Amino acid sequence: MTSVLPYTSLSEYLRQRHGAKVVRIPLTLHQVCPQRAAGRPGCLFCLPAAYAPPAAQQQGTAVEQLQRGIAQARARGRATKFVAYLQSGSNTHGEPAALRRVYEALLAQPDVVALSIATRPDCLDDAILAVLADLSRQHDLWVELGVQTLQERSLTWLQRGHDAACARDAVRRLREIGIAHIVAHLILGLPGETIDEMHASVRGCVHAGVHGLKLHHLQVMRDTPLEAEWRAGRVPTLTLDAYATVVAALLARVPREIVIHRLCASTPAQYLCAPLWPGTKTEHLAAIMRALAMDGDAHVLRLGVLRPPRSRR
Ligand code: SF4
Repeated sequence: MTSVLPYTSLSEYLRQRHGAKVVRIPLTLHQVCPQRAAGRPGCLFCLPAAYAPPAAQQQGTAVEQLQRGIAQARARGRATKFVAYLQSGSNTHGEPAALRRVYEALLAQPDVVALSIATRPDCLDDAILAVLADLSRQHDLWVELGVQTLQERSLTWLQRGHDAACARDAVRRLREIGIAHIVAHLILGLPGETIDEMHASVRGCVHAGVHGLKLHHLQVMRDTPLEAEWRAGRVPTLTLDAYATVVAALLARVPREIVIHRLCASTPAQYLCAPLWPGTKTEHLAAIMRALAMDGDAHVLRLGVLRPPRSRR
């Protein structure tokens, strides 16, 4: 089936790869944040509750969460195959043997075609890489990296606790051990970042060798240090139209083989201060689709000069 979308969506990729509707089941290991465990301040934007699966889905072990999520997805008639998705927190942080047991138990569940593991770029030591390398010989493993941006001043401002070289190095080391499905999370609309800088982050991830991108707009969540910055007037956020234009401009330069896992964030309203876009998530995606339907070059002209990745074009 040929897609009408001007990019490769995750659902399209999974359907072509597995010949069936595949859905991700979000899971949590209820882990402590490695930043905070190390005595560092958390990331400026972080509200852990906002990234966790719905409360009812969080009960029990990861396997129990997965089984419950699969049963619910089957009841809705939505899918026949599943990706177990360790979504919240840094799911390579911990004792490697214990993590291996969790990974193996999730992969052993019927109709689970892949395990997706979200983590930080600086949370991939040699011991956990050895576990991932071993499991990836028999299973489809994905690693989602919270890259956020490759602009050093933004990483410092976000209090990420790692630099851009760390993120690039994480992609390189994952590729060296045979992990093909590396997904970079990027935040678009960070204060002071130009469209060229956002494009440089996208291009840097693509050139480093990621398989997919997960795009988010900067969101100000309640009770975070970012909220205080926003209330002080130091953090502008993007309107839906502006964000849609940014996404369209960037995707016009992303090679088709890169899988787009997400086009914008969709944080539950109870956690969100800004931006408060009118409409539903479906309407937000429709606005991005309308921008994507425009000529990509038009976005380039409106937003500044973007240089295409040299090695891909
Ligand atoms: S984003 Fe992740 S690493 Fe950063 S403070 Fe939140 S839980 Fe910790």
